[in-house]
Amino acid sequence: MSLREQLCEYGRRAVELGLVIGTSGNLSVREGELVAVTPSGVALDRLTPEMCPVVDVEGHLVEGELQPSSETPMHLAVYESTDAKAIVHTHSVFGTVVATTMTELPPVHYNALLLGGTVRVAEYATYGTPELAANVRAALEGKRAALMANHGGVTIGATLEEAFESTRLLEWLCEVYVRGLGVGKPTILTDEQLGAVVERALNPPTFPRREL
Ligand SMILES: [Zn+2]
Repeated sequence: MSLREQLCEYGRRAVELGLVIGTSGNLSVREGELVAVTPSGVALDRLTPEMCPVVDVEGHLVEGELQPSSETPMHLAVYESTDAKAIVHTHSVFGTVVATTMTELPPVHYNALLLGGTVRVAEYATYGTPELAANVRAALEGKRAALMANHGGVTIGATLEEAFESTRLLEWLCEVYVRGLGVGKPTILTDEQLGAVVERALNPPTFPRREL
């Protein structure tokens, strides 16, 4: 699948799963010095490959008739400071709830480790600005995900599939936390408990084959 076809595929899935509505949210995927990004003003389930602009890492338009997403400066800033090859940004409901009320999402489930543990909330700045790009970049340091105050969430990955799955996981973790708050006080996993999970993942149980 070409980079632009991938944007169409995951854009459609993002809408189907309710992670974005209308023309909100944007995706990008990088190959070398080029970045294919979703266009501004088109719903993510209406994309065709030709609609998706290609920019270079400095932000020059290389291909495409439509304007790149207004959040492209944020994507490029993140590519500059991480090893990411793909970025997914959505306004998913539970992620936005947490980003509107908290300064971080604490690890209430061990799968948070897949995103780097505690998820930081980047300080608020107007969408599309260099300030927002800088805040997101800082919040992502050492992480695979960040929330954006009063805005939404962003995840990175080695592939668009990976970044997309991280966005689903981020939304799931935020939903568990928010629903947990409705029932009681969610217990936060300690560093020791999280360390034990890493240890366990590195040493999975083995099941010797029974001799017949
Ligand atoms: Zn946004």
